[in-house]
Amino acid sequence: MSLPLFLGIVFCGIASCAVISFIFITYSNRHAYDNSKKSISSFVDSLGHEIDQTSFWTESVDSVNSELYSIANGHNGRVIVADAGLCVVFDSYHTKQGKILLVSEIISALQGNEYFDVNAEEGIATYILPVSSGSENSYSGVFYIRYSVHDELTRHRIIRRYTAMIAVSLSIIIVAFGIALTTIFVQPLHRISRELAEISDISPDARLDVRNNRQVSEISDTMNKILDRSREMEENRQNFVSDVSHELKTPMTSMKILSDALLMSGADLPDTVREFLTDINSEIDRENHIISDLLALARMDRKTDTVKYERTHINEVLDIILNRIRPMAEAKQIEVVCEIYRDVYADVDAPKLMMAISNLCVNAITYNHEGGSVYVTLNANMNYFYITVQDTGCGIAESEISHIFERFYRVDKDRSRETGGTGLGLAITKEIVNAHGGQIKVYSKLNEGTTFSVRIPIYKPLRKEGLA
Ligand code: ADP
Repeated sequence: MSLPLFLGIVFCGIASCAVISFIFITYSNRHAYDNSKKSISSFVDSLGHEIDQTSFWTESVDSVNSELYSIANGHNGRVIVADAGLCVVFDSYHTKQGKILLVSEIISALQGNEYFDVNAEEGIATYILPVSSGSENSYSGVFYIRYSVHDELTRHRIIRRYTAMIAVSLSIIIVAFGIALTTIFVQPLHRISRELAEISDISPDARLDVRNNRQVSEISDTMNKILDRSREMEENRQNFVSDVSHELKTPMTSMKILSDALLMSGADLPDTVREFLTDINSEIDRENHIISDLLALARMDRKTDTVKYERTHINEVLDIILNRIRPMAEAKQIEVVCEIYRDVYADVDAPKLMMAISNLCVNAITYNHEGGSVYVTLNANMNYFYITVQDTGCGIAESEISHIFERFYRVDKDRSRETGGTGLGLAITKEIVNAHGGQIKVYSKLNEGTTFSVRIPIYKPLRKEGLA
């Protein structure tokens, strides 16, 4: 399940629920008292007309009084009517009769401003509004009512409670919906990426088969087409490299035989011819080296070259390698130290392992300075044996380390050409180590040295035989 997608759906859902609930509650709050206000307001309108036709402001008028009592009782509240001089001419509670009401809201009502307020704790609303006399914008008194709004408040509380309950239920539904949606949409994508990771080595028969719905099936089909195409391209590339290397190998061998023959013939060759011939000979050696490396890699790629496991005494393999590289080290006055911690027997393809470790040792000398040293160790535990090759050479910059196992990658191109490097040695070493189910790691510090560490299983894997 994708957490960001899930959180996105849940956030959007819950946020819209919250906003809709808020708007609904605010609207119902604002209009909760509309009915009572409207009925009071229309009563006060008709009261104004009636007062105009009586002498209510100067003496008590029974018909008006009874209407005022009936509205007070009808709203379960108290009604006060004051004249333009703020003197109370009617009070349904009889306590303020004849008194002056110096209250700002009442003074303001005489100027035509209505006042409405609700005390939610007491459940009481106060509504003050002007009493119009005949002409427009002229007010002859003020109508004041304090009345119970318990019913409205209860209704509003119920609306709020139901809205909250609906919002919470909707949120729960949205969370469930979010889980279902992300599972439905994301799970097949996860499966696709898992299966793609598994078949990323472009093994010949691996196919993607995720078919949860039409879109996902289409993705699977498209990916399978891309895989087929890349397999085809990879096969073409391997065939091309292999064919070209084979084609080049024969003329190169002939050229080498001819140039060797000329150099060894003892013929009285002019110095420049002999010098050029020597250069040609070493260039042919270099090309032969590249072709052999390319052929080795091509064979591994095409899996024509399987690992031929055989119980091998690794100490002996190391001895042979060190004996071979010693003359090269001596030529550069490089000291080679070997530390063997135990006797190690393992199932390996000895010639291939020899090629892999030789590449590391040759590099340790090639990229070392005169008088430097190379330190080789062999150790093992129950499951793996470990070989490290450490040198005191030029080291590799951190930015280059991730590339050195790539084919034809050389850190310092001029220097590598000088030293006869092809940029294929470490690629071959890595292929061989991987084919044995092992691992290779490199630690390096510029101008201080490099350590390659190889870990290979002691026992051959039960199923995997081919080069991976
Ligand atoms: P090459 O044939 O050029 O040596 P490799 O594949 O063996 O090719 O090595 C790739 C590059 O990694 C080399 O060109 C070199 O720059 C760098 N390299 C390999 N081993 C070492 C080492 N021990 N010390 C420093 N640099 C190294």
